[in-house]
Amino acid sequence: MELWYPRMESKQDEATFRESLLAWFDGNARDLPWRQTQDPYAIWVSETMLQQTRVSVVVDYYTRFLTRFPTLQSLAAADETEVLAQWSGLGYYRRARALHEAAKAVVAEHKGEIPRSAAALTRLPGVGIYTAAAVASIAFGEPVPAVDGNVERVLTRYFGHEPVPGVARSGQLRRAAEDLVDRQRPGDFNQAMMELGATVCLPRSPQCLTCPVRGGCATRGEHAAPRTKKMLSRKTALALVQRRQWPRAEVLLEQRPADASQMPGMWELPLMKEGQENESMQLLTVRHSITNTNYYVTVYGLTVNEQKMLARSTGDRAWVPVLDLNDQPLTGLTRKILKRLKVLPGYSGAGPTVSLEMPRDPEPDLVGA
Ligand code: SF4
Repeated sequence: MELWYPRMESKQDEATFRESLLAWFDGNARDLPWRQTQDPYAIWVSETMLQQTRVSVVVDYYTRFLTRFPTLQSLAAADETEVLAQWSGLGYYRRARALHEAAKAVVAEHKGEIPRSAAALTRLPGVGIYTAAAVASIAFGEPVPAVDGNVERVLTRYFGHEPVPGVARSGQLRRAAEDLVDRQRPGDFNQAMMELGATVCLPRSPQCLTCPVRGGCATRGEHAAPRTKKMLSRKTALALVQRRQWPRAEVLLEQRPADASQMPGMWELPLMKEGQENESMQLLTVRHSITNTNYYVTVYGLTVNEQKMLARSTGDRAWVPVLDLNDQPLTGLTRKILKRLKVLPGYSGAGPTVSLEMPRDPEPDLVGA
C-alpha cells in the first residue's frame, strides 16, 4: 500500500509553484555570507549553525569560525576546546562537537573530500537528514529536499492537511517536498523554501498578501495558531570572583563535568551557596532562556577571601586570566554575563578591564545556552 502524502493536482501546478517561489527568491533573498560561496565546507558550517538559531545571531559566529578554521582540514586538526571556544555563546554545543567529529571523519576516511550525496553525508557522525540534504543540494546540486521546521510549516499550511494518524508527518511532508524540488536549481529551491518560512510564512502571523505561492495555498493564513510554549521560571545565583589587577587579572571558573547532560566540559561561573546572597554584593541580573525555562540569574561579586560562600564544586575550578577568556569554551550564559560586566576582553570599549557595571533590572534575553 502506498503511503498517502499531500501532493499537487497536476505537474503544471508543481511547475507554477517552483517558478513563483524561485522568482520571488531571486528578487528577495537576503544577502547572507554563506550565499556568496560554493565551498561545501562553508555551506556545511552555516547549515549546522543555523539549526535552531536565528540568522541574525549566526552571521557573526559564521564569519569568526571560518576566519579561525578556514578549511575542513584546519577544523579537523583543531582541539575540541578551541572549537567549543569559537562556538561559545551560540548554544546547542552538540552541533559543534558533531561537526568537528565529522570533519575528522572526512579527513580520515574520504581523503578530505566532503561526500557529494545526501546519502553519503548522513553516514558521517552527527550529520542528520536535513543537514545532508541542505549541503548536497546547495553545494553539489543534488535534487533532494531539505525539510526543516520552517519548510514543514509552509507545506502544512499550503496543503492544508492534518497529519494522518499513525504516520509521521515529517515523512509525508518530505515525500511532498521531493515532488516539488526543482531539478535544475535544487539548492536555490531549498533555500527559497526556508526563506519563505523564515520571512513570510511566519509561525504566528503569516504575511499571505506578499506570499509568492498564495494562489495555490489551501489555508492562506486561516490556520490554528501554534500554542504558546509554557515557560518555566527559575532563579539562580552565581559568583564573580576575581583576583589580581589588570593586566594580570583572573576570574574563578568552574568546568562542567565531562558526563553532564548539557554542555559537558564547558566553563562557567561558580554557584553561590544558598542563603549567602547579600544585596550589597549584587552586580547584575540577567534573564537567560534555555528551551522551556527562563533562568533569572543574579551575579554577586566576591573577593578571594569570600570563596567559602560558594556552593560545593561539581567540577574542576581554575583561575583563568581575563586575557585568555575569549579562547575558553565558556557557556553562553557565562559569556553573556562577562560581556555585560565588561570583564571579557573586547567588550569594554577601551580594551580589557575588570571595572564593573551594576544594572539591577532583569535584562532582555539572548537565545541559546
Ligand atoms: Fe503561508 Fe500564507 Fe503563503 Fe499560505 S499563503 S504559504 S499560509 S504565507
